Amino acid sequence: MSDSEPAEKLVTIASYSTPYEANMVQAQLAAAGIPAFVADEYTIGMNWLYSNALGGVKVQVPVSLAQEAQQLLAAQPESPIPDEPDTEVCPACGSSKTETFLNKRNSFLAWLLLGLPLLLPTERKRCHDCGHEWNPAR
Ligand SMILES: [Zn+2]
Repeated sequence: MSDSEPAEKLVTIASYSTPYEANMVQAQLAAAGIPAFVADEYTIGMNWLYSNALGGVKVQVPVSLAQEAQQLLAAQPESPIPDEPDTEVCPACGSSKTETFLNKRNSFLAWLLLGLPLLLPTERKRCHDCGHEWNPAR
């Protein structure tokens, strides 16, 4: 004789701004043997503007495993995907205050000449100090 167990209550242990991040954490927890659930994923996928209003995409686990799950997450690095440092210096003046921007003018010209817009505008670098522009080395 086996009574059906009442479903264990779920608690939110973390929330993220994108379903991608929540799914990463869900996979990490699952790999550690903790069943995790992603809440609100569908709603946010429908409209990214709702993300903040709902408090992000929530990762939920059973109450009895919440502490274990939080310890596991605390051991993870803050950002699994490090930002690529923008350290290229200006070839004209040597300043490191440079930025990458997309040269949409080239894309527009290609549209005029070829009759179709380029999907990827040319990536260019620009110096904040002297205004020099150049093509990044790749
Ligand atoms: Zn410069």
